[in-house]
Amino acid sequence: MTAPALARVPLQDLGEEHRPIASELDEAVRRVLSSGRYVLGSEVAAFEREIASFCDVAHAVGVSSGTDALLATLMALGVGPGAEVVTTPFSFFATAGVIVRLGARPVFADIEPATMNLDPDKAAARIGPRTVAVLVVHLFGRLAQTAAIEAACASRDIPLVEDGAQAIGAWDGTREGTSHGRPSQSNGASGRRAEEQPGELGARRFATLGRAAALSFFPAKALGGFGDGGMVLTGDAHLAERVRALRVHGAREKHHHVLVGGNFRLDELQAALLRVKLTRLPGWLEARRRLANLYREALADTPVVLPPPDRGATWSSFVIRVPEGRRDDLARALADRHIETAIHYPRPLPAQPALAELGYRPGDFPEAERAAGEVLALPLYPELRDDRLMRVVGEIRRYYGLG
Ligand SMILES: *Cc1c(COP(=O)(O)O)cnc(C)c1O
Repeated sequence: MTAPALARVPLQDLGEEHRPIASELDEAVRRVLSSGRYVLGSEVAAFEREIASFCDVAHAVGVSSGTDALLATLMALGVGPGAEVVTTPFSFFATAGVIVRLGARPVFADIEPATMNLDPDKAAARIGPRTVAVLVVHLFGRLAQTAAIEAACASRDIPLVEDGAQAIGAWDGTREGTSHGRPSQSNGASGRRAEEQPGELGARRFATLGRAAALSFFPAKALGGFGDGGMVLTGDAHLAERVRALRVHGAREKHHHVLVGGNFRLDELQAALLRVKLTRLPGWLEARRRLANLYREALADTPVVLPPPDRGATWSSFVIRVPEGRRDDLARALADRHIETAIHYPRPLPAQPALAELGYRPGDFPEAERAAGEVLALPLYPELRDDRLMRVVGEIRRYYGLG
């Protein structure tokens, strides 16, 4: 007799995410195909309004990717040769890549070991005479602590930019004494009904901490499209207008180019499909939070190091740390049991070959280097069934001989 086949547990399952909304997605596609307009039309405009409302910011500009959202934002802020941008050494490559593409220099500050977000005091200390911006990343859907950075930026009139590619809907849920589940007060221009707003009363929220914020709609993100897409969010009307021009090669009117921009346009199809998915996002984020708590409870007595609690985190990935050099071994053991994992990120940005000429050396960012050797993302997506999650937990316990 053969043993029953082990169910495969994927890291993500976009097919399951789309199945219940298939007819709405089909309808959105039909609407766009028959409209005759395929880039920057009414679907993009409507999606921009809806995202602005969801994030409680005044302006949203749809662009071609999260990378281009960051690039266009830094271009609009005038980042260029000779300038420095303070940022984190532990992120996806795009965070540093956009800075280098503009001829500027990324100046890294190490991360906090527990959250793996930029250490605010270290970041503030790296602000110098050439610094023209600070770019924070809300890693894995957890809001970075930015108060010290905001204060340092304000005193020097330097813009803070949020890389929110992993952070749509995130708020700071680390403070004690806030009311559970109470909706936050609207302080944006949207006039949205209070009960639709994410976060707790008075909580600090993604996209409202700095001058501008970037979103990615890459398929694997919490709000993922069917291809590439991104958005720039800002409360600054002038900045929004510059990004709008930059996304069409700097033209404010057709064939009148006042800036050198790029083709950073968002497709109508992506916008129409993402509008359908946006209506489900609050429920999906709640599901992610619930599953993250399940993991945290069920793994509490194992040797793996768990991400700290944060009621406002959206868990775009659930990333544990595997101490004692056992990360790759555990990942292999899980793969053998049909459990998919991922490493975000195996190498700190300053150690990437493409950034070698910045001249950083091993040992410059000890916390980022240690994280790169220990992180392991476990399966987490809104449709993940509890029994599948408990299978992942069970296999980790088995690996450590915990039965
Ligand atoms: C995904 C991601 C990006 C880039 O977004 P794309 O849409 O893939 O270009 C930038 N920064 C971070 C932190 C990301 O996770």
